[in-house]
Amino acid sequence: MVIVGGGHNGLVAAGYLARAGRRVLVLERLDRTGGAAVSTRAFAGLDARLSRYSYLVSLLPPKIVRDLGLRFAVRKRTVASYTPAVRAGRPTGLLVGGGRARTRESFARLTGSDREYDAWRDFYATTRTLAERVFPTLTEPLPTRAALRARIGDDATWHALFERPLGELIEHTFRDDLVRGVVLTDGLIGTFATAHDPSLRQNRCFLYHVIGGGTGDWDVPLGGMGALTDALADAARRAGAELVTGCPVTALATDGRTAEVTTGDGHTIGARRVLVNAAPRELARLLGEPAPPPAEGAQLKVNMLLTRLPRLRDRHTDPREAFSGTFHIAEGYGQLETAYQEAAAGRPPTAPPSEIYCHSLTDPAILGADLVRRGYHTLTLFGLHTPARLFAADHDATRDRLLAATLAQLDAHLAEPLADCLARDADGRPCIEVRTPLDLDRELGLPGGHIFHRDLAFPCAPDEAPLPTPAARWGVATAHPAIHLCGAGALRGGGVSGIPGHNAAMAVLEEG
Ligand SMILES: Cc1cc2nc3c(=O)[nH]c(=O)nc-3n(C[C@H](O)[C@H](O)[C@H](O)COP(=O)(O)OP(=O)(O)OC[C@H]3O[C@@H](n4cnc5c(N)ncnc54)[C@H](O)[C@@H]3O)c2cc1C
Repeated sequence: MVIVGGGHNGLVAAGYLARAGRRVLVLERLDRTGGAAVSTRAFAGLDARLSRYSYLVSLLPPKIVRDLGLRFAVRKRTVASYTPAVRAGRPTGLLVGGGRARTRESFARLTGSDREYDAWRDFYATTRTLAERVFPTLTEPLPTRAALRARIGDDATWHALFERPLGELIEHTFRDDLVRGVVLTDGLIGTFATAHDPSLRQNRCFLYHVIGGGTGDWDVPLGGMGALTDALADAARRAGAELVTGCPVTALATDGRTAEVTTGDGHTIGARRVLVNAAPRELARLLGEPAPPPAEGAQLKVNMLLTRLPRLRDRHTDPREAFSGTFHIAEGYGQLETAYQEAAAGRPPTAPPSEIYCHSLTDPAILGADLVRRGYHTLTLFGLHTPARLFAADHDATRDRLLAATLAQLDAHLAEPLADCLARDADGRPCIEVRTPLDLDRELGLPGGHIFHRDLAFPCAPDEAPLPTPAARWGVATAHPAIHLCGAGALRGGGVSGIPGHNAAMAVLEEG
């Protein structure tokens, strides 16, 4: 068994298959495993291990952690989100967390009544029930659409989320623009769409953001994302898998029954099955087939190290609470629409939406003891609506302009500029690094910088689809019987979940 790519999903597949007694060889192009789930000491001379790309965990089933005996854990955040705002000329904000009473009070202070809080509570009670019903199916053979609908058992929710654009549900349920925007963001992380996009891309993205773990909670990976990848690599090695890094696969061939990979140093290796953790675009390239429809990422990822957390203009809220949850910036419903329209017309958004979060508030252990003692903190920013196409003409200038515009939106809510809080590395440079979609394509092979390898799909098969093979039933089939997907590009892939890795391994084991 050969696995092309040692991202976290390739490692999950390797762990399961090696534990089942299969001979497993993982070939990874980069000089490290983990793909987009890694930690890095990004700033010279400073002991801060930042999750360079992905940073929060929701979709990883505890079953995978248990089955593979991983030494890995997540920690809940005490605050889910904070959104600064200005109302009647005064700085204020919406805090979700710290208990029901505080959340209700925060909604009331922002919106003037309990209406929005009541709507919020009911809305997320519904998504939680959805999560309890849908999440367990992700590690089972693919249900048909009809079977998934029956499992959800609530036609109104099905219709609103699987058949109509998410914007209709949000506008029907909430009145406040800021509250609507906060809800919509879960449909836009890693997805370039409007609330009313007829493709329903935003609905699929929303679904994956609210069902993780059967709760929809987004938790902090203790030790950072690298801790997960290290635990997975250890588990795969302990079970007998061989992991080779710095080893790109350059071609893939199949006679229909078996497959053969060629590596960068000219070796060919035959196998009964090849699992591909690399994106579908790379699979097509390796096979010499036409590329699939182009994918495009639309996010800006910024990692920072601060000497202190900045103070907020909203004096009711402690920065330690605000930054430990997801801190939404310029993500009002109207602002999200304007930013989308600007970007779709080929212009960088004037007020780029983004969200930030401080890992070290929940898990200080990613910082060296000296940095913790001096009050340093990490800050992770994920910018929305910055599609790859914006960077095509003048990459660096567009990146710099967007970064400045994004930080200006944050600064508008701070009592001191963020730049004053940035640490400096051993060479005196400010501790801030930026990744555009084109950077992610170049570094990780994410097509167009798409963080899910391609647009997410609903987690079910069309009712009329034939599912004749184990690979089809597990949602990992390609056009070639000896080659399966085991990464984010598989059905029910995307995000740090290990699910497509698990499902590809199940398909192979079922094939016997
Ligand atoms: C900036 C950013 C932030 C994100 N934030 C989150 C988050 O907070 N939470 C979350 O759940 N998800 C997040 N995601 C998405 C998530 O990280 C990815 O969807 C997930 O990591 C994909 O994992 P994978 O193992 O399927 O693929 P990848 O991580 O893409 O790994 C694929 C591997 O295949 C290797 N490869 C490619 N071609 C070849 C070849 N020819 N030969 C050998 N090896 C090859 C690559 O080098 C890579 O290591 C984020 C992604 C990004 C980029």
